[in-house]
Amino acid sequence: MEFSKSTRHLIRRNEPLAPYTWLQIGGNASLFAEPNSLEELSQLLADAHRLSLPVRLLGSGSNILCRESGFDGLVISLSTAELSKIEIRGERLIARAGARLNHVISAAVGAGLSGLEHLAGIPGTIGGGVVSNAGVTNDDLGSHVDRVTIIVRDGKMANLDRRQLQFGFRRSNLDDMVIAEVELALEPMDSAELTRRMQTNWIVKSKNQPQSGTRTVQAFIEPDGASLADLLEAASVRGLADGEVCLSAQHAGYITVSGQATSEQVLALMERVSRAVEIHSGIQLQSPLKIW
Ligand SMILES: Cc1cc2nc3c(=O)[nH]c(=O)nc-3n(C[C@H](O)[C@H](O)[C@H](O)COP(=O)(O)OP(=O)(O)OC[C@H]3O[C@@H](n4cnc5c(N)ncnc54)[C@H](O)[C@@H]3O)c2cc1C
Repeated sequence: MEFSKSTRHLIRRNEPLAPYTWLQIGGNASLFAEPNSLEELSQLLADAHRLSLPVRLLGSGSNILCRESGFDGLVISLSTAELSKIEIRGERLIARAGARLNHVISAAVGAGLSGLEHLAGIPGTIGGGVVSNAGVTNDDLGSHVDRVTIIVRDGKMANLDRRQLQFGFRRSNLDDMVIAEVELALEPMDSAELTRRMQTNWIVKSKNQPQSGTRTVQAFIEPDGASLADLLEAASVRGLADGEVCLSAQHAGYITVSGQATSEQVLALMERVSRAVEIHSGIQLQSPLKIW
C-alpha cells in the first residue's frame, strides 16, 4: 500500500481512537494522519481514493461513538494549527474545518461580529458543526454559513455557495463530504455587548450539559414538538444505568461513561431508553451520534 512521497511520513498505523473521542471508547484506526496543510489533506484524500481506502474525518470527537473493532481505513484528524486557522475579512469569518467552534465564536465576538454568540458552549470543530448543523433552540450554525469549501474524492477542492447548501434540524446535505473551510456571513455589533451575550449563553449552556471533562455524548436530541426531558421522565429512564454507562439524570439526553465502559454497553443503554420512550409515548427518539 503506497501513499505518495508527500504524505507517506504522515501515516501512523494502528492508532488508538479512544483518546480522540469524548467517550474515550474505541479500537484502532488501521491508518491515521494529521495533515499540516490543505495540500497535504488533498493529497491524502487523493491517495486514499487511488488505494480504494475508506476514509473518515475526525473533528474533536464529541459526536462519535467508536466501536472496539476500530476502523479499517484512513482516519484523518484536522487538529493541526494550519487546518484550524480563523480569519476575519470585513463582515465575514473564514475558518478552516478543524477550528474549534468556541474559538470561532470568540474571534467573531472580538471582531464585533454578531451571529454566532448563541452557539457558545457547543463543543466541537466548525467542520463537525457544519456537517451536523450544530445548534441550540433558537439558532444553528447553518443559518450563518455562506460558503463551504469541500475536497472531493480525487483531492480537488470545490466551493459550494449558499444556494447549494441545505441545513435542517441537526443535519445538512454535506454528510458524506470532506469540509476543508467554512465562510460565515455575520453582522457588525458592539463587541462589549456581544461579549456579554456570549458569556451569558455560555453559562446557560454549561449548566444544561455535563461538566467539561466528563466522558459524555449527546445521545438523543429534542424530538419535534415534544420535550425530551419530559419524555425521559415519563418513561422512568432518567438516571438509568448499566454498569459504567448512565443516562444522565440532570441533563436530558446525555450519556456519561466511566471506567472500562464499552461501545456495546452504550448502544445497549441507548436501545433500552429508546424502547422505553417509544412504548410509553409512541415517539421514536433520534440520536445525532455517528457510530464508527
Ligand atoms: C457535552 C456536549 C454538548 C453538546 N451540545 C450540543 C448542542 O447544544 N448542539 C448541537 O448541535 N450539538 C451538541 N453536541 C454534539 C457535538 O458537539 C456536535 O455535533 C459537534 O458539532 C461535533 O463536532 P466535532 O468536531 O466534535 O465532530 P466529531 O465528533 O469529530 O465528528 C462528528 C461527525 O462529523 C464528521 N466530521 C467532522 N469534521 C468533518 C469535516 N471537516 N468534514 C466532514 N465531516 C466531518 C465526522 O466524520 C463525524 O461523522 C454536544 C456534544 C457534547 C459532548
